[in-house]
Parts: sequence; structure tokens; C-alpha cells
Amino acid sequence: MGIRKFKIFLFQNLTSIAIVAGMTTSKNTQRTKFIFVTGGVLSSLGKGLAAAAIGALLESRGLSVTFQKLDPYINVDPGTMNPFQHGEVFVTDDGAETDLDMGHYERYTNAVMSQKNNYTTGRIYHSVISKERRGEYLGGTVQVIPHITDEIKAAVLQLDGTADVAIIEIGGTVGDIEGLPFIEAIRQLRVDLGRGYALYIHLTLVPYIKAAGEVKTKPTQHSVRKLQADGIQPDILVCRTEVPIDDSLKDKMALFCNVPKDAVITAIDVDTIYEVPLHFHQEGLDSKILELLNVWTGSPDIRPWVNLVNKIKNPKHSVNIAITGKYIDLTESYKSLHEALVHGGIANETRVNLHYISAEDLEESGAEELLSKCDGILVPGGFGQRGAEGKIKAINYARVNKIPFFGICLGMQLAVVEYSRNVVKLTKANSTEFVSTTPDPVIYLIKEWYDYRNEIIQTRDENADFGGTLRLGAYPCVLKENTLASAAYKTDEISERHRHRYEFNNAYREQLEENGMVVSGASPDNNLVEIVELEDHPWFLGCQFHPEFKSKPMTPHPLFRDFIKAALENSKK
Ligand code: GLN
Repeated sequence: MGIRKFKIFLFQNLTSIAIVAGMTTSKNTQRTKFIFVTGGVLSSLGKGLAAAAIGALLESRGLSVTFQKLDPYINVDPGTMNPFQHGEVFVTDDGAETDLDMGHYERYTNAVMSQKNNYTTGRIYHSVISKERRGEYLGGTVQVIPHITDEIKAAVLQLDGTADVAIIEIGGTVGDIEGLPFIEAIRQLRVDLGRGYALYIHLTLVPYIKAAGEVKTKPTQHSVRKLQADGIQPDILVCRTEVPIDDSLKDKMALFCNVPKDAVITAIDVDTIYEVPLHFHQEGLDSKILELLNVWTGSPDIRPWVNLVNKIKNPKHSVNIAITGKYIDLTESYKSLHEALVHGGIANETRVNLHYISAEDLEESGAEELLSKCDGILVPGGFGQRGAEGKIKAINYARVNKIPFFGICLGMQLAVVEYSRNVVKLTKANSTEFVSTTPDPVIYLIKEWYDYRNEIIQTRDENADFGGTLRLGAYPCVLKENTLASAAYKTDEISERHRHRYEFNNAYREQLEENGMVVSGASPDNNLVEIVELEDHPWFLGCQFHPEFKSKPMTPHPLFRDFIKAALENSKK
């Protein structure tokens, strides 16, 4: 048996836990192996998904994984960025406002993301400039190389020892000026870490030119050449394509891009994003990665992914869900929400058809026309006055017509406003976010609250920085028995992630409860109202947190599961 065959034999037959074979050079004392994922040709090729899918495959082979995204933009974090431009801001347990790729990483694997898993150019420079001001560079001239690149390397190396494999995704496209320090840092890291401890995967596009009836490899060749000019020879190419790529094209790319043919992996468009790990596996991507990283494991258990994809592709039922929000033009703005609804569908063997309805349109036309075709109505999180009255109209329609309703964050706050106005008859009730002088501020800026995660008393001030006043990250919530919430979670205490400034005003709690609103979840000190619902309704629930951040395809979130279930029951009426 040749060495190669012997290796394959071992890959297929070792079923025990992963054996990570270390290199023998003395400088390699670290445990974690690093995979760097770059992107070429153009953006939006799905680098984040590719990284997440690689993570899923490595986990299915018994390895532990972690991730990091390095974003070349200058904002310190995406917290203040417009979701139109940047897509969703994903929130972690520790309260980091991060890139939406963190969401993919968590949904595909068991990795838990935090502050240290997402860095931007802004954050790196912020740290270097603070050190310079403190005199830490001892009077030296502070430069991109080595100071910025060292700071990037230190950020990456924080992950050393936290998992068997760390997958580091470089945002943007090779050739971008702003991405250069990151590319340089990962080039140096291969030298520092040694071969077998660092691997470069380059994701490119192989476009199909209709007029010629051909797929073209030139953009890939150019992008690899640019990477080579920056000092990086990719080990593996992952080629996004609409049509199957034949062997001769793989040969060509292997030849021109200086990689072995079995390291040219095609990533053809798939029906559901959860098929990507299976497709990569068929292409041999996981075996190739392990071979190059010198890691031996058993063969992967991909059955959960096969089952999942089967369920998604063969639903028994379907429901129509209306989402009334401000950022309806881009599904990227509500990425996790969109996925969590799909997961809720998986749990009910149901295809979930999403209908994004502009809240502003609802203000003008009659709500009925737009909403009447839907089996469930969801009002997601949001900031700012625009469309607020339209969302309130949608909530009113759901409440009065007994259509399953799910309000998330702003959606919950507006459900409280709607109920106060139309049931409690506080006709001018509002959130102070929209009308600071409202006579009935049912949602307001709470002055003081106990912060369970940081174990301190927090104070809120109207004049503080916008970012500074947000309640961010995971907080505990105690559930009330015999409610929709406790039926869903089947436990009495939960932890969910938050991102908001305003809170339910306890001055109105008794009045709302007397009029039939149920507070089914609150902070352990009972000060912060976290979930409200209605008794006389098939399924009406609003939560102050964002449950979508914790939903995964393999473990759909209980609230999304039950909301889709209620919508499905409604669709049969
Ligand atoms: N704008 C509201 C607040 O700041 C809700 C935020 C959200 O929905 N994430 O409290």
C-alpha cells in the first residue's frame, strides 16, 4: 500500500476521537490549526457560509472548531451601521455587535461567538492608537508593518488553544486596498505557525457566460495571481459556479493556479444553504483539508445534515408569514430572523413562505388587504419612528382577527403600545423613542436597572452616546407557569440575547395586566418585563429579546417552532 492509499485507509477506518498529529518542529507548541479563508473576484460569494460549512464538516469528524471574521472596514464594530448597507448586526452572548457571518458560524456548529471572534480595521487601529497614546511603543514610529499586522496576528492567535481548528475569514475581496494589512498578517502567520498549522482556502467565482455557453476560469486565475503577488499561495480553491465544472476545467485551474487538481473544489449553487456541507463533502473538501493540516480523524457522520436537507426539501405543509418591517428590501437585514423562521418550519415539516410587507405601505393602505393572505404576522426588531404606525396597525389586525402574532423587540414594544391604546384606552400611549412627550410612555428609557450579566446597577441617560445606552447580550428571564412561553421553552428560566435601549414601563404593568395582557417572562428581580402575551388569542406573544440569534437548523428555537405551529393551525381553518 502506497503512503497515499495508507492515509486514505486511515481516514476511512479510524473511528475513534480525532487524533491531531502535531508537527515535530520545536516552535509549534500550539494546539490549534488555522484555516484562512479569502475571497476573490467579487463579494457576496458566500465566504461566511463556506467557512461555516467547513466548520460543520470538521465537527462531524469529531474536531472542535472556532471562527473569526476579520472585516476590513473602519467602523469599530457594525453596531452603528445601517442594516441596508451592512446587513444584520448579530449579537453574541457577551454583548458584542458583530458581523452577520457570526450567525452562520453559530448556526452550523457548536462554536459560541464572542467579542474575540470579530475584528475590524477600526478596532485594530483603535487598539494600536490607544497603545501609542499610552506610550507603549516607547517612542518608536508606529507603522502598518509591524504594528498593525502584529495587532492583527495577536487577535488571531487569541484563538490558539480554544479549539482543534480555527477558521479565520477575511472580509472583502483580494485586491481591496483596505484588506491588505489582513492579507499581510495571515501571510506572516503561516511562517510563524509553520506548515501543517496554517492553510489557505481561496473562494472564487467561475462565471457562466451565456452567450458563449461556457464557464470561464480567467477571473479565478487573476485573483489567485493577485494573492500570490501578496505572498500567499492558496492551498485549496473553492469555485462558486452555477453549472457543473468538468474535469478539464479543474485541470486548467489547477495548472494555472498552482494547486493540485484534488484541491480544486466546486461549490455549485444549491437549493438550500444547509446543503453546502454535504456538497463540500462530496467534493472531498474535508478530506483535503485534513490531509493538508496533517490531522487524522474518523470518517464524518453527516447523517444529521442529510436528514435536515431531506426535511427542508420535502415539507408536508406550507404557511405564509407576513413580516412587517422597515428594511424589507434586503433579506440580509433580517438574516437570523429569516433562518429562524425556516427552522420553525423544519420543526413542523412546513415550508415557510415569507412575505415582507413594508410598514410604511401599511400606514397608507388598509392593513387587511396586505395581511389577509397570511397565516401569521411577525413584527421584527427595529429602530426609529419610520413605519411604526403601520406596524401597530398590523399588530391590531393580528390581535383583533386572532391571527398568530410574534413581536420581537420593537415588535413587542409596539404590541404593548397597541394594547394600551386600543384596549386600556390610553389613546396617546407611545414609546418615548417616537414621542418623547407622550402622556403615557408605556415604553421608555428606564433610569436604573440591575444588570445580571455584569453584576452592576446600570443607569440610563438620555444624553449618553447612542451605543452606550443599549442593553446588549444575554440576560436571564424567569417564565410564568401556564403561559405560551413556558409551554414553548418547557423550563422556568431562560437566557436570551438583547439589543435595545427602551424598556417596558412598570408604571403601566398593573393596568395592562388587569386588562388581559399577561407578563409571562421577566428578569429574576421582576423589574424588566421580557415577554408579554394575550390569553384570549390562539398565539400572541411579544419578547423584548431577539430569539432568532439562538435558533439553529438542528435545534429550532421553541418560540419560532410554536409560532409556525400556530400559523399552520390557522392556515387549516
Ligand atoms: N428601538 C427599540 C429600542 O431601542 C427596539 C430595538 C430593537 O428592536 N432591537 O428599544
